[in-house]
Amino acid sequence: MKKRSGPAFNQEKRPLKPCPQCHGAGFIKPMFYQMPCDRCEASGVVCKETGESLTKEDLVIQLRIRLTERNQELVEVRRQMAAMRAESNGRGYGAGGSRYHGD
Ligand SMILES: [Zn+2]
Repeated sequence: MKKRSGPAFNQEKRPLKPCPQCHGAGFIKPMFYQMPCDRCEASGVVCKETGESLTKEDLVIQLRIRLTERNQELVEVRRQMAAMRAESNGRGYGAGGSRYHGD
């Protein structure tokens, strides 16, 4: 059965660093074939403080936190680009425009 250790879920973002064994790739190539890196569970990252791999549960949480952050960054960058485009061509999408709803 599943082993539960520590307090429920740790949903906090923890510092990670590239895995020293696969250099962040998540796989190694000992001979001719790529194999998932066993040091980091093929994630390419390990705990920055201890240098140890995270459990699969922790990995999902940590990678999900980062994915969410990236998505939010992407949304923000796209919003800024759209605003810049609207400014530079000076029509339509600005404050009074119909296409921009703001948020
Ligand atoms: Zn690795």
